[in-house]
Amino acid sequence: MGWPVAHSRSPAIHNHWIRKHHLNGAYGLFPVPPTHLEAAIRGIQALGLAGCNLTIPHKVEAMAYMDWVDPLAQRMGAINTIVVQADGALHGFNNDGFGFLQSLRDAQPNWRADLGPIVIVGAGGAARAIVVSLIDAGATEIRLLNRTHHKAQALAQEFGTPVTSFDWSERHEALAGAALLVNTTNQGMHGEAPLDLSLDQLPTNALVSDAIYIPLETPLLQAARLRGNTTVNGLGMLLHQASPAFQAWFGVTPEVTPELRKLIIATF
Ligand code: NAP
Repeated sequence: MGWPVAHSRSPAIHNHWIRKHHLNGAYGLFPVPPTHLEAAIRGIQALGLAGCNLTIPHKVEAMAYMDWVDPLAQRMGAINTIVVQADGALHGFNNDGFGFLQSLRDAQPNWRADLGPIVIVGAGGAARAIVVSLIDAGATEIRLLNRTHHKAQALAQEFGTPVTSFDWSERHEALAGAALLVNTTNQGMHGEAPLDLSLDQLPTNALVSDAIYIPLETPLLQAARLRGNTTVNGLGMLLHQASPAFQAWFGVTPEVTPELRKLIIATF
């Protein structure tokens, strides 16, 4: 459910797994305007569906209609998955952070959150999920940068140690000594300007990740690759967040394979 939702690649991901595991099911898109969100969510249960995903702009409001929200999702302040329980209760989860961590481990199997300072650019929904997952994974220092500084400050205050906020004017210098840089803004997305960030201070052994997946290589990732940094695009996050939801709905743990990646890239 989203508004709009036609751009979503989730049907391609889940229907691929449904076919692969010979399941009797289907994953479809529901364009739901915000005024109809509550009725649509109640409808999931009434129609006997296993659950659904939520995307922009429903991830926060949907929490209000759950019978139970996973504590991790509560800290992230949003849900992206609803699972209908055997008794009809609606449980809400957020798998975005899981997907993000898995995408880093795909690129560097030995990656750890405590390898050094982490710089996150952006303080919106994706940043919240990523910050919470990095704290839980053992991050010792997270530097948060956002164009609108007070939003980064508010997140740093809410999550406490190890998160500190930096002013937007300090963004280039904040990369000094970092082990991981993550872009969670929409800058660099197809149709948007590139992220205005100089990588000069970033160590060349730092991992550079972008939550964006269209294009697969944003100007930020291209600049990082050309100076020798290992890069991770947002496709892995998208594919891996789908896996726990599929497991919860169908009872089968699906795999993120090169075949699935190819299939989704072909839709771009
Ligand atoms: P959001 O809540 O709207 O946050 C957008 C962020 O971008 C804010 O921090 C905003 O800063 C910043 N921003 C916007 N315009 C900017 C500019 N001109 N210069 C600098 N910063 C700017 O959006 P979101 O839900 O977090 O999504 C952010 C990105 O992550 C999107 O590209 C989305 O596609 C991607 N994403 C990917 C996945 C995945 O599975 N790969 C999952 C979720 C999201 P201000 O606070 O100053 O406005």
